[in-house]
This record gives sequence, structure tokens and C-alpha cells, in this order.
Amino acid sequence: MPPRRSTSSVKRYRESTSPLTSSEDDAAYTPAKVTPKTKGARSIAVKTDAVIVEAAVNVEAAAPPAKKPRASKGKISKEDGENYKRDVGGDEAVDEKSKKKTPKAKMWPPPDLDPANHPARSGFPIFALSPTTVSNGSLNPSVPSRPMLLGAHVSMGGGPATALLRASKAGANGLALFVKNQRSWKSNPYEDEAIQRFRDLMRPRDEGGMGYPPESILVHGSYLINLGNPDTAKWNMSYECFRDDLRRCHQLGIKLYNWHPGSTVGACSKEESLALVAKAINKAHAEVPEVVCVVENMANANSNILGTTFSDLATIIRLVEDKSRIRVCLDTCHTFAAGYDIRTNDTYAVTMRKFGEEVGFEYLGGMHLNDSKAGLGACKDLHENIGLGDIGLTAFRCIMRDPRMSHIPLILETPAADKPLEVGELAVWVKEIKLLYEIQAIPEDEWSAKSVEIEKRWRADRDVMNPPKEPKGKAKNAKKAKKGKKDEDEEGSLWHC
Ligand SMILES: [Zn+2]
Ligand SMILES: [Zn+2]
Repeated sequence: MPPRRSTSSVKRYRESTSPLTSSEDDAAYTPAKVTPKTKGARSIAVKTDAVIVEAAVNVEAAAPPAKKPRASKGKISKEDGENYKRDVGGDEAVDEKSKKKTPKAKMWPPPDLDPANHPARSGFPIFALSPTTVSNGSLNPSVPSRPMLLGAHVSMGGGPATALLRASKAGANGLALFVKNQRSWKSNPYEDEAIQRFRDLMRPRDEGGMGYPPESILVHGSYLINLGNPDTAKWNMSYECFRDDLRRCHQLGIKLYNWHPGSTVGACSKEESLALVAKAINKAHAEVPEVVCVVENMANANSNILGTTFSDLATIIRLVEDKSRIRVCLDTCHTFAAGYDIRTNDTYAVTMRKFGEEVGFEYLGGMHLNDSKAGLGACKDLHENIGLGDIGLTAFRCIMRDPRMSHIPLILETPAADKPLEVGELAVWVKEIKLLYEIQAIPEDEWSAKSVEIEKRWRADRDVMNPPKEPKGKAKNAKKAKKGKKDEDEEGSLWHC
């Protein structure tokens, strides 16, 4: 998932969204010992009448303050340099020696993610918009009012439930997260408390949760999985990891699981490889209930990578027995890089018509919203912030005004902020979510003029968060190009495990 500017962006994006290392996992999922005094700190009560996913135009009712966790005395230990932690067992009568041995647990909810400080979430109901004009008609709303589930891929550092808090803090109506370390074959199982926290926070706001129903959450699977590999031992290893991801989704009450279909690794035909992917999906459907497998389209056309064409996606769907549990996710950067143009109203309409004919919108389970640093058909997976790459703002306005894209997770995987602002790495996504709603609302006859000024303003804004680091001089450029090649190779090499 490559970010912007730096050629090591793939790495950085992963790090910024990486859940945790295994050892951190332990800490994150270890339930705090609860004394009667601190028990009340467990639940987050956010009482509001606003139902997020039905938010109407300009709804600005911010969530009232959440109940602050009642920390027992001496528990918050910011001073000792371990923010957000509290002593869990003893207070007054603990001697220095045993104090050192006392396990620390993270305070819940983490103060920096306190729901009391989250912004209001809003979005334009799709039915309220005038149609987007295309040369031979319009992208007419053909479905009833449904909300846009716009959000971002956020970190689950501190436990999976923190992802819901981060999404809410970013003003998102949907989100994506990893369910374990995306670069490890094995991770520790969830503690019961981590599962319960997640399930509680998914609930509607008037029931004390953050209002993220299952249809608004799209998990991203491990990068290591290659279900298209014909090597039996490697396929089995991938399958175990895949099934583990699905089981984690099921534990958390998540329904949509998105992952990369894989690669032939040059060892078999694409048809054989696609059949292996479908075999894994059928097997997993029998072993893990409910979770829907959402195959992502890929950028690297003309390679061993699967899923770079709509027909690859259609082949997988055809071979899956339970059609109610197979969907696809269109990544805009991957779509464009693989040669499908979406830059204008007309090219967007043509590409989406192709998708409808070859795959079918009934199988669209989510989208990843990313601009591209590489050109049309460049086959490179290089994500850029919305509207600032080779795709441009118009495509994203088309998506935001397309009723077929409502009620499915629309997930930003754009480069996070280099410069942590008041909301840290969420800063860029907060702005991009606002930007997408802003461009969604602009009428057709005003778009061409306004898009220019909006892009200029947004680019300046983004450059503050992610200052440009273009190297000066040929030597630096050459070095950068070399490094970029290395990063891409590393990305590609993931399939060979
Ligand atoms: Zn992906
Ligand atoms: Zn993606």
C-alpha cells in the first residue's frame, strides 16, 4: 500500500497502519485487572440521537461528552513517561520492588481517542444529489437513499477496538483495519475482553457504541497470503493464515474481509491459479461462518499477479459455490494503474459499465479510494492523496455521486501525514473525508471552475502535512528511482513466500 512522495512509501504506509508487533499484541490484548473502583471505566457511553450512517446534510450535532473513565487514585501515570497506562492492582501499599513487577495495562479508552472529543460525522444523502452528466446520459440514482460509508484504513494499535475510535475521531462513516500483524504468519489470539470491546463499540451510538454496523467495516487481510500458489505446502500455509483472518473477523462480528488474490508465481497458468483461489474460498466458507470474502483488484497488469482485470475477478466469482459470500473491492489506484480510465465523467462511466457487464455491481463489496502517482496503465501500485495524482478529483466526485457506491465501505488508503498535527496520522484522512463530501455537493455546471481552485487549496494543505521531498538534481533522482524499484520488488516478493 504505497503512500506518496517517498519511494519507501509502501513501507511507511504499512508501518503507519500496522496493528502491532506480536509482543505489543500481548500488551494490547491483556485485559486490565479491574478493581471495583475502576470497573466503570470499561464502557464508553456516548449518548446521542444521531444515527451516524443516516446522517443528513450538515448534521453538526457533536456527540456529547462520553463518561470519563473513573480512574482510581494514583492510576494515571503520565508523569512516568508511560502515557495512558495505569497501575492495575495496588496503590498506596505497594513497595518499590513489587511495583516494578506489577503488570501495566492500557487505560481504556485511551485518552487521545476519547469519544468526547470526536467530531460530528456527516454526509450528503445520495438521493439529494442531481445526476452526474455523461455524454450519453447520466449516472442516475437508481437505488433508494443510502449513506456513503466513507472512511479510512486506520491502525488497530492498542487493540482492534481502537480502530473504531480512530475512525470516529477522523469523522469516518466506515473503516478498514488489519485483524492481526499483516506481515506475520502468526499472531496471538484475541483476549475475550478485546473482542467484547470491539463488539460493544460497533453498536449504535444510542446504545453506547460508536455506530459502525458490519456493512461499514472492511477488514484488510494479511499481505503474506497467496492462495494462487500451486505449491501445496505454501498454499496450505497461506490458507491457514487466510482462515485465521476470517475467524478473527467472525470473532469480532465483522462481515467483510478483503485481501489480495495472489499470484501464479510463474509456476502455473492464471486459470489454474484462479481456481486455487476459489478452492480456498469454498473451503473457508465451509469452515468459517458468515464472513464474506471480498477480492481486491490489483494494479500489476501483465504480470503473474491475479485480479488485475475484471475478468479475473469474474472467474473467481464463477468458481465460488456460495455466491452470497463472495464480493470484490475496487481500488481506484489499482483500477487506473491496470489500464481502466476513470478520470472524466465519461471514462468513469465506460469503466463502470465494463465492470457491471463483466463482474456485476451486485458483487461490489467495497472500494479503496486512492489517487495514483503512476499514469494510466502504468501497472504500478503507488498510492497518492485524493485528487493530487494522475487520476484527479473528477473521478472521486463521480464515485461520491454514484448511488452504486453507497452503503459499501469507501476506504482511504492514502499516505498518512508525515507531520503529526492535532489528530496525528489521522489528519490527512480527516481532510480527505471533508474534501470528498465537499466535491460531492458541487453541481455539474460549477464543477470545472471550482475543481481547479479546490485542487490548488487542497494541494497546499496537503503539502503542509506531507511536505514535498522532491530530490534536487539528477543524482538524487537516480538514487530515488533505484530505491523505488527496490520497494516495488519487495512488494512483488511478498507473493513468493
Ligand atoms: Zn489491498
Ligand atoms: Zn487497496
